[in-house]
Amino acid sequence: MEYYEDFEKIIEWTKLMNKIKTQILDLASPKNWIEDYPHENGNYVNKCIQCGEFFLGHKRRVICRECQTS
Ligand SMILES: [Zn+2]
Repeated sequence: MEYYEDFEKIIEWTKLMNKIKTQILDLASPKNWIEDYPHENGNYVNKCIQCGEFFLGHKRRVICRECQTS
């Protein structure tokens, strides 16, 4: 059954990649820290510890802009 397990992993991986890609393309997402972009380490893809969604911002950020400000 190893084949099926690997297949499941690939599906999960693809979903994850698509999600990241969508969020990267969506630079206007309210989750992104747009004020970080001009900084040297300001455009990393991070995962929010509160909502679990990906967002763009400084590499040290652990929470998205939406969760932080709500
Ligand atoms: Zn969040």
